[in-house]
Amino acid sequence: MKIAVYPGSFDPMTNGHLDIIKRAAKTFDKVYVAILNNSAKTPAFPLSQRIDWLKRATKELDNVEIDSFSGLLVNYANEKNANIIIKGLRAVSDFEYEFQMALTNRALSPNIETMFLMTNGKYSYLSSSIVKEIARFGGSLNGLVPDFMIEEVTNEITKNQ
Ligand code: ADP
Repeated sequence: MKIAVYPGSFDPMTNGHLDIIKRAAKTFDKVYVAILNNSAKTPAFPLSQRIDWLKRATKELDNVEIDSFSGLLVNYANEKNANIIIKGLRAVSDFEYEFQMALTNRALSPNIETMFLMTNGKYSYLSSSIVKEIARFGGSLNGLVPDFMIEEVTNEITKNQ
């Protein structure tokens, strides 16, 4: 079994994330989408909300499971018997940090391989921060997040302003 973990904040999930999830689901037997629950960071959206959006967006993908974790990613991956970590790469600017993380994770757990999926050209500029910024100033989220999320993301962002 090729079991992979795709970690991230998913604050909120975007179509860029979903594209990576769908492609990973075709390549691996099982994919855990693992939301980092980091007490040092204050996310814009509660964990339960981020889980719910990911679950709804991936409900047709039988081999994808939505989960959350705290602590070291390699410990979580080992718990799940996963030996692959998936990362998306958007631009050269992602590379340096991801390179450092991949080497760190290999040093911590040499049995785990990090694999990079290149962004879909359509989403190369897309990030959770961009989505929040657009929502905050009343722009359209069409095509950036799944349709069912648009109103919920916008309401949640504007209610906190
Ligand atoms: P972001 O970087 O958007 O704040 P995350 O920390 O949740 O989001 O990212 C989780 C993973 O998804 C990372 O590996 C990141 O590089 C990847 N990712 C995020 N957005 C995209 C995108 N538009 N295309 C490809 N990969 C992406």
